[in-house]
Amino acid sequence: CKERGGGKCLYFSREMYQAFRRQNQLVDLIKRGMEAEQFYLNFQPVYNCARGKFDSCEALLRLKDENGSNVSPAEFIPLAEKRGLINGLSWMVIEMACRFIRDYPEYSGSLSINFSVLQFLETDMVPRMISLTQRYGVRPERLKIEITERIIAEDTRRVLSVMNQLTRAGFGFYLDDFGTGYSSLSYVLTLPFECIKLDKSLVDGIGNEKNRILVEAIVRCFHAIGVETITEGVENEEQRRIMAELGTDRIQGYYYSRPLPEKEFLELMRGQG
Ligand code: C2E
Ligand code: CA
Ligand code: CA
Ligand code: CA
Repeated sequence: CKERGGGKCLYFSREMYQAFRRQNQLVDLIKRGMEAEQFYLNFQPVYNCARGKFDSCEALLRLKDENGSNVSPAEFIPLAEKRGLINGLSWMVIEMACRFIRDYPEYSGSLSINFSVLQFLETDMVPRMISLTQRYGVRPERLKIEITERIIAEDTRRVLSVMNQLTRAGFGFYLDDFGTGYSSLSYVLTLPFECIKLDKSLVDGIGNEKNRILVEAIVRCFHAIGVETITEGVENEEQRRIMAELGTDRIQGYYYSRPLPEKEFLELMRGQG
């Protein structure tokens, strides 16, 4: 309800009503989707510049609505978080990732999954991660957990404690969306990250000389402390060339490939030998 002038509650705008309705429909869709297994993973290959081939991938969650069109995770993930559905969804993602690794031994790379802050608040999450991966015969080293600085900022002590436990168990951590405004080097320096993912926004500005200098400095700084970099959101040849010249270790972006359905991803990996 909107406030106006004297602070009186006046009306629901049509837009607010529609947004509210859309949210409720989406919540239903998420709940039904979890029961009917309407969720699935896409895999976006990640190119290793030194090896000249794809060597890893990121698993991205997908949901089809009743018309068969895809709902964006950028829309349904925040909603799932708000409505208490994210933890169920997240365990489903981890299980699908484990099943993929178990079912396709021909794929030997690592697989990134995205974590939400609420997963870190679950009391039994560490033993559950360990037993789930054991049940699927998946070495924890195969899974890379992507988190953003926002997640760390929300509950630094808790996130740090869980991160350390999972790292000791063999899981790897990637810092996602680096360069999107929260960036503070202190997290990177104090937390056990294997890899930093440079956000698309850094790539978008790469035609600009100052941005190039900044990105080069970032990459060099991480390398100096033994942290790898993946550059995200590379869409064209010029961006690819510049980022490779600046020394990024790996590249993920539409230039190389969009996120792919399981079968297409496996074909692509098979094709490169
Ligand atoms: P993210 O983790 O930053 O994932 C990268 C997003 O960038 C993906 O969008 C991917 O499709 C897109 N992308 C990759 N290369 C390019 C490019 O060259 N150009 C452009 N314009 N975009 C590119 P997607 O799949 O829509 O996912 C959006 C966000 O939803 C993810 O951002 C992540 O934060 C979240 N998400 C996805 N799957 C999961 C999940 O299983 N769990 C959680 N908690 N969040 C997820
Ligand atoms: Ca990610
Ligand atoms: Ca990202
Ligand atoms: Ca993101």
